Amino acid sequence: MANKLLLIILDGVPYANWRRLFGNLEGWVEAGEAQVWRMRSVLPSTSACCYASIHTGLTPQVHRIWDNADIRRLEFPDIFSEATKAGMKTGAVTHSYWSEFFNRAPFDVVRDIEYDEPGGPITHGRFHTMKGYGHDNQMTPADYDLFGTLTRLCEVKGIDYGILHTCTLDSMGHRFYHDCEAMDNACFSMDATLAPFIDRWRRGGYEVIVTADHGQDGRGHHGGTGEAQRDFALYYFGPAEGPAPDVLLDQLQLAPTILSRLGVPQPETMKGESFLF
Ligand SMILES: [Zn+2]
Repeated sequence: MANKLLLIILDGVPYANWRRLFGNLEGWVEAGEAQVWRMRSVLPSTSACCYASIHTGLTPQVHRIWDNADIRRLEFPDIFSEATKAGMKTGAVTHSYWSEFFNRAPFDVVRDIEYDEPGGPITHGRFHTMKGYGHDNQMTPADYDLFGTLTRLCEVKGIDYGILHTCTLDSMGHRFYHDCEAMDNACFSMDATLAPFIDRWRRGGYEVIVTADHGQDGRGHHGGTGEAQRDFALYYFGPAEGPAPDVLLDQLQLAPTILSRLGVPQPETMKGESFLF
């Protein structure tokens, strides 16, 4: 059975902050319209390593992304490649790393900042680089604009699978740490900005997953093994059933789960099992 699905990755939000601060997401859970689980990232719990694992279902020890440096085109099947092979249209509104991993590298800002390529693997790409990023200079686009861009890919281009990734909360967490008024407000604002788009995507017939790539600890750190560094929430909007609420999900399950919801065969490289059925 083929479904349409959107994957929303809010970079670097620890489990506790999801459950404490995202009132719209939690309201849908309380109303029985969404399901939520805890998911644990691969190791290292570093952004680029997690992006590669999210889309290939492989550990960093296999895909060999060890750090946020040395980004290359990955040589493994991923969600884009398999969905395209099945005749689906894909979309990405993300950091440029995703274009480099799953389409071509290095990223040429003029050629690659946006493209429409019917042959895929990313049919419609809309990217940003965060060039100039630093502790005091986030360089993240407005999340409202990113959500709007993804919605255009849904409503104008008719994508079957889309991913959106934003570093706003990761950047703020590195700067302010997670237990403070600035982060309370940042998470509140993200939840309020995202909610009307989720409602619109659901009305448009999309299943939606909202989650993170990894968490962050009390000093805004991630990369290592601490639960706060690795663990985040995963919210699912759609008709499928999942495991019991207290089951800890593995990040390597995400790619096979999305392919199964899209009705696309799971490549042999992906060893994880779908957690939705
Ligand atoms: Zn990250």
